[in-house]
Amino acid sequence: MLDCAIIGGGPAGLTAGLYTTRGGLKEVVMYEMGMPGGQITQSSEIENYPGVFREDPPLTGMELMEPWPKQCMHFGLKHEMKEVQRVRRSEAGHFIVELSGDESVEAKTVIVCTGSTPRRAGFKGEEEFLGRGVSTCATCDGFFYKDKEVAVLGGGDTALEEALYLANICSKVYVIHRRDTFRAAPPTVERAMKNPKIEFILNATVEEAFGDAMGLEGVKIRFKDGREEVLKVPGLFVFVGNNVNNKVLKQEDGSFLCDVNEQGQVIVDLNMHTSVPGLFAAGDLRIEAPKQVVCAASDGAIAGMQALHYIQENEL
Ligand code: FAD
Ligand code: NAP
Repeated sequence: MLDCAIIGGGPAGLTAGLYTTRGGLKEVVMYEMGMPGGQITQSSEIENYPGVFREDPPLTGMELMEPWPKQCMHFGLKHEMKEVQRVRRSEAGHFIVELSGDESVEAKTVIVCTGSTPRRAGFKGEEEFLGRGVSTCATCDGFFYKDKEVAVLGGGDTALEEALYLANICSKVYVIHRRDTFRAAPPTVERAMKNPKIEFILNATVEEAFGDAMGLEGVKIRFKDGREEVLKVPGLFVFVGNNVNNKVLKQEDGSFLCDVNEQGQVIVDLNMHTSVPGLFAAGDLRIEAPKQVVCAASDGAIAGMQALHYIQENEL
């Protein structure tokens, strides 16, 4: 029986692993289906994780995460490169973690840290320029375009709120949206409309992102009426929705093991407790996640400490 099963090996999962093992738990396994590090390893630059800033060349996400697993393993965390299929409750009140290949393990506590995945819009060049001009995070990458022109794709709350955020940094923000009405809340639409730095390009979508080895140079826009336009921008922010990686919590009958909101984000309290005792969630998959490495790591630390308390209090 494991003391704690951690699902996902991004900043939240690794930090949960550090705090549980260093806090004294002996049997802690982190199930990460790929290499540990999480989605930040896709980023070519990170400059908002405190204490590790490097200007030239900038610190990559891969470099940031490289030492984390080693530090965790030093204190006893084990990593198994396996995909978790499902977590369910056992009759004894523990958890059964079902792994790919019909294997399963029992655990006293589980910390789910499977993150979320920004949806792709599906235009040509989107993957090629991701992290090199195409971004899904204004807080992360907005500053790289200080006093430059950028574009935002999408017409939901995220797109318009992030366009307003970018307007504080960039010289101009084009919002490209496929309709002429918005999914975003009316007050947000009004604020964006009133902002002199924001220009709307409506009834249009991005058809192609183009550039060279140095990165994005611009986007080809296709209007509903067939017209085509080229917008020369070094940055395109894509906000077309998010998929929460919550499938491990889905039960055979289609219900979720713990409470989730209508977007599928896991509902937690300030201690990362879900609605099920002994089950914790941390990082990008929880409600109101700021989707930052520093915040995911903080969640992981809190969840790790709470798993320790839970085991001690219940004398498991
Ligand atoms: P993730 O990092 O998403 O990790 C989740 C892990 O769980 C993944 O490794 C995945 O393989 C694993 N997993 C999922 N399902 C399963 C399963 N069923 N079984 C086993 N393993 C599973 N943040 C910043 O603070 N600053 C930045 O500059 C910044 N730039 C970014 C740039 C890019 C291109 C991207 C994509 C993100 C950026 N972010 C940035 C956001 C940051 O990466 C995330 O907020 C952070 O990684 C979330 O951590 P997490 O541990 O919650 O989830
Ligand atoms: P969203 O509401 O699903 O909006 C996605 C937007 O992207 C829509 O405008 C959609 O267009 C567009 N889109 C989708 N696929 C596209 C494609 N392939 N190409 C071009 N455009 C595409 O996503 P979100 O903005 O991330 O918000 C998610 C949820 O979080 C929502 O419920 C939102 O209200 C909530 N949220 C709330 C706040 C807040 O309350 N402050 C802030 C952020 C998010 P269509 O409109 O034509 O479908």
